[in-house]
Parts: sequence; C-alpha cells; structure tokens
Amino acid sequence: MISEQKRDDMVTTQLESRGIADPRVLEAFQDVAREDFVPESLREFAYKDSPLPIENEQTISQPYIVALTVEALSLRGHERVLEVGTGSGYAAAILSRLAAEVYTVERIASLAESATERLGRLGYENVHVHTGDGTLGWAEHAPYDAIAVAAGGPEVPEALVSQLKLGGRLVVPVGPETQQVLVRVTRTGTHDFHREELTSVRFVPLIGKQGWPDQQQILRAPPKPSPSASVARLVREVAEPIGDIDSDSVRPLLARIGDARVVLLGEATHGTSEFYRMRARISRELIEHHGFDFVAVEADWPDAARIDNYVLGDPIRQGPEFEPFSRFPSWMWRNTDVVEFTSWLRKFNAHAPGHGGHGRRVGFHGLDLYSLFTSIAAVLHYLDDVDSTAARAARNRYAALTPWQRDPAEYGRAVLVGAYESSEKAVVSILRELLERRIEYARKDGERFFDAAQNARVVANAERYYRAMYYGSPSSWNLRDSHMFDTLEALLGFYGPDSRGIVWEHNSHVGNALATEMSLRGEHNVGQLCRAKYGDDGTYIVGFGTDHGTVAAASDWEEPMQIFEVRPSHPESYERVFHESGVAAFRLPLRAPKRAAVRDELSAPRLERAIGVVYRPDTELLSHYFQASLAQQFDELIWFDRTTAVEPLAPAQDRRVVRTATQRAELPDTYPFGL
Ligand code: SAM
Repeated sequence: MISEQKRDDMVTTQLESRGIADPRVLEAFQDVAREDFVPESLREFAYKDSPLPIENEQTISQPYIVALTVEALSLRGHERVLEVGTGSGYAAAILSRLAAEVYTVERIASLAESATERLGRLGYENVHVHTGDGTLGWAEHAPYDAIAVAAGGPEVPEALVSQLKLGGRLVVPVGPETQQVLVRVTRTGTHDFHREELTSVRFVPLIGKQGWPDQQQILRAPPKPSPSASVARLVREVAEPIGDIDSDSVRPLLARIGDARVVLLGEATHGTSEFYRMRARISRELIEHHGFDFVAVEADWPDAARIDNYVLGDPIRQGPEFEPFSRFPSWMWRNTDVVEFTSWLRKFNAHAPGHGGHGRRVGFHGLDLYSLFTSIAAVLHYLDDVDSTAARAARNRYAALTPWQRDPAEYGRAVLVGAYESSEKAVVSILRELLERRIEYARKDGERFFDAAQNARVVANAERYYRAMYYGSPSSWNLRDSHMFDTLEALLGFYGPDSRGIVWEHNSHVGNALATEMSLRGEHNVGQLCRAKYGDDGTYIVGFGTDHGTVAAASDWEEPMQIFEVRPSHPESYERVFHESGVAAFRLPLRAPKRAAVRDELSAPRLERAIGVVYRPDTELLSHYFQASLAQQFDELIWFDRTTAVEPLAPAQDRRVVRTATQRAELPDTYPFGL
C-alpha cells in the first residue's frame, strides 16, 4: 500500500473512529508523512497504531494521542503555538499545518538537531526548534495561544501557564511516571484558569526544573544526601520486618508484584545463603499461587538444562557428557540452597498433569553465555540425531574454534590482532540454518529444537562476546546483558502469550542500570531492558542487600572458593543507612512507600556495594562500591543485616561420572547434583 493510502487508513481507523472530528486536524494527519519521522529500520511500521522508539530512548507518540492533544488546542490557523518535547518533529509538523507559527523545545540536543534538519529538509518552514528545558517554556516568543506538552510531568508547569495568552489553552500529561491524565488548562483571566481532565495516557517523562529530576544529572553531580541516621529513622518506620525466612509472610510483596509478567530477584553477592533462600521462598509462592511458568537464572543454558530435566522429572535426555556447574564459579549453583529449591520444584512438578495434580510444569533455565563449547557440543549432538548432513557441515564450521577450548578469551585476542580468522560468519550461519529448518525439526520434538536453537544462539553470541571483551566495557557487558534479555524473551515466547517468568540474577543485572553509574559508561542491563519492554506494571524488580557476615567468593578469577568475612558497610553507603535502621531483616517497598519521603531520600545517590564471584576486602571501596540511586534502581529492597555464606556441594570431580543414558535413567533423585 502506498503511503497516502496508509495515511487514509490511519485517519479513518485510528482517528475518526475514536471521535477525532475536527476536519482541519484530520487533514493535517492526511498531509504529514509519518514515515519521514521514524527511524529507517521502522518505516514499515510508520502507520502502526502505537508510539514507536526513536533515538535516545525517546518515542514518537501514537498518532491518536497527538490528534487528541492538537484537537484539544482548538486551533484555527492564525495562532502562535509552543510545543514541549520535539522528539522526531512529527507533532510539530502536524501543528505547522494548523497554526501560523510553531515553537518547539527539546531537551536532548541531538534530537533537536536532527528534528531541525528533518523539518527544514521537508519544508516545514514555520517550525522553530530550540534545545533547552521546555518546562520553563520559551519566554522569548511568549505569550502563546496554545501549548502542547509531549512528555508527562508530576504537575502542570507554572512557567507554561504563565506564558499562555488570555483564552490560551495548554494540554499536558500530568501524573506519576507510570500513568498520567491528559489535562487541559485554559487561561480565563490574568489569575484565573479552568482545568479539565481529558483522558488517561502514558508518556515518557518530562524532565526539567518544573518536571521530573534528571537522573543522569543527579548521578553526575549528586546533591548531598541527608545524614544516614535521619534516613535510617525513616526506613525503620516503613520497613516490613522479616523474622524467619521460611515462615515469613511474603503476601504484601506478592500484592505489590500484582500482574507483573517478569519478577526480577537480585542479590548483592554471589555467595550469600539468605539471598538464595529468600528468592526461593518468593519464587515458591509465585509458582504455587500466581501461575509463574519458569525460573531463569544467571547460569549457562546447557547446565541449567540438566536441572530443567531434573525438576521436570523427565528422563534425562541424550546429550553430550559434562558435569553441570563444574566450571568456576561452581558454588553459585552447586550449593545446598539451590538443591533444596530444585528438589521442591521437582516435587511441585510431580503433581502436574499425568500425575493427577495442578496441571502445570515449571521449568528452570540459564540466561548466560559462558558455555561456548558445551553449547557447540549440544548443537552437534542434536543435529547428529535429526539431520546428519547438517551435523557434518556444522562440525566442520565449528572446528575452527576448537583450538580455543581451554581459553576462549584468547580466541578473541587472536582475532583482534589479526592472528586468527574470525568464526563469526560460520557460527551465525549455523544458527540461521537451524532456524530456517524450524518447522521441519520442531515437528519431531519442539522442546529439543528450542533447546538446540538456544545453544546455537549462545555460540553465536559467545563468539561475539569473546571478541568484544577486548574492546572492554560497555560493548561486552551490553552484549552479555542483551543476550540474557533475549533469552528471557525467547522463554516467554516458548511458554506462551500469557506466560510469566522469575529471574534470579545479581543486583547489577536486575537493578535498572539507568539509575546507576553503569549508564554513564553506556552500559545497559536486563532490568533496564525489561522495564523498557514490559513497563512498570509488567516488571517488578527486587534488590537485596547486607551489611556484614560471611560470603562465599574467590580472591581472583579461577582461584578456589573461600569463606570471607564481609566488611561492615561504608559510612557513605545505602548499606550503612539500612544497618543504622536497627532492623535485622526487612522488606522495603520503594515504588509507593507508606511515606513518600523514603523514596526521595533513597533516590539521592549514595554508594552501593556489589560483591561478585570475586571479593577483594582490601580494596573494597574501589573494587566493590559504585554510585546509584537506589529507589530508582529497584521497586523493593530486601535487607539482611547479617548474612552467611552458601554451603557448596562437594567438588564435581569427587563424584562418579555418568556415561550412558541407561546409567542416567537409573540415577537417584538428586541428579544432577550427584549427592
Ligand atoms: N512530539 C514528539 C514527536 O512527535 O516525535 C514526541 C515526543 S516524545 C513522546 C517526548 C519528548 O520530550 C522526548 O524527545 C524528550 O526528550 C522530550 N522532553 C522531555 N522533557 C523535556 C523538557 N523538559 N523539555 C523539552 N523536551 C523534553
């Protein structure tokens, strides 16, 4: 369909049918080609009935919402109009057809520049673009007959009201970041205004002096946080104390989770028992009573697939031989808390259909990409079974990676310095060919196909990851978190349109990266990507923290695990605030706390501690603390003042290696932990 026809369609089905009646407005939408304002890659969706992403994580608004806004301004053609939030320039172009002069302000300089170029090139001569904080209006050209705001603020900006002519109209979305009401303010006298609420809407935030605070700016030049003792008093007032983890009622937390599609449960270290046990406690409730379909963890896909077989009580599938979780850092998943949770999940699944029970089976999956060679083996093993010709071809193409089995990172270095040829094309083509035969392969066994395709995806992304490692952050970090997010999406797709997932990963992956210094380095993470995709209502992020105690970690990568004493927290950290609250363990809702002051105080950036698989107490401040804005990072915090290290299982090599399918079929219930 050519563009004009698509516009015709849009005007009829998206605008007129919903009550937009002003013929001048309808004509303007007929005139302006929306495809000129969307990114090249999204042009085919230009007439979709939805907002679309543009650069800098902003959006071009849904046509209907633009129409509703401009219709509410009642323009006749002679007016001087101000728009706040130029974005792509689309709404400004529409306004240029309805008024004499359009002044539009955008806070992000690069967007303002490209909109200026675009509007100039397309001949919208009566539009004037300015970079700045639109919450303060554009005083030089005031007063205005009409003002349209294309981003949602906490309240109607005073400066904008003051720049309205007598009789002028201002349309602005007002309300919390998750949902706003489109408000029209009409100036009826020097000091008199008439306010009407038009409809509920959802816009990107209006950031500025009379809007929401600029999170990035706060992180760059943090205001001085209040003394920890006063914030600690506030925390004590609103925190929900936790007694014993096993008997704790998580009901208030479940109510706050509501209908979220993904629940992300963090951890402040990779070796703290309380974090595992509390996540297990919450996950059990979500699975038993709220229909969650799977748990996806910060572990490799093939290793977790063994656990998945185990929790489903399936006969262990044929597959290449390897010990799950035998690689450093094995204690992250080979520990007694994980055994307890997965044993519970196995029992839960045993009551699924066929077993005369509740009718659902809940899976266990790995999101990570460190399994280059086990994943290669898994793909080959699969192809050997379903398509021996494809298996031979894949074996040849994967072979170029074989010399790097022991140290795939070395492969990345060798490619970078030109000493070795990249396998990128080979690994991507294997994935592509596998996906091309999706229908044929999946007909035989859909689950096995999904598993093999996911392994082929891991290989392709891991190959890129090891090459990116030498470019340093943010590219390798972003590749890894994008892979984990894509895997989560693949799982939600696999489980079906209404499926719900639980994620267990470190705080640094689940806490929204936009609220930490990671974003200043250009890094994103799973939590941020979930927020962008599933919104506030669809995503619930729980962070975890501790002050002191013991933790399982290593002194360096590949070094043996030790039990460390965790140093009491830094005086300028969030951890210190929570420690000073004097409450030994608690949940702290941050999205809509009983007292809003808690959210404000915990939004002012402080240090936050992250302990990974490596702990370096001697250089703790440098190695483990970073700046964050905690109340923006998480929807809820779970605190254990004193914590204990996880208990690892015996080293993998002490246990018998199981070689044949028959032997595996005879394994005790505790496989694959081999207790
Ligand atoms: N009207 C735009 C279009 O048609 O493409 C869509 C605008 S988008 C929904 C909202 C825009 O408002 C973003 O580009 C954002 O950067 C901008 N914005 C947010 N706060 C602002 C402020 N205080 N001043 C100016 N622009 C702001």
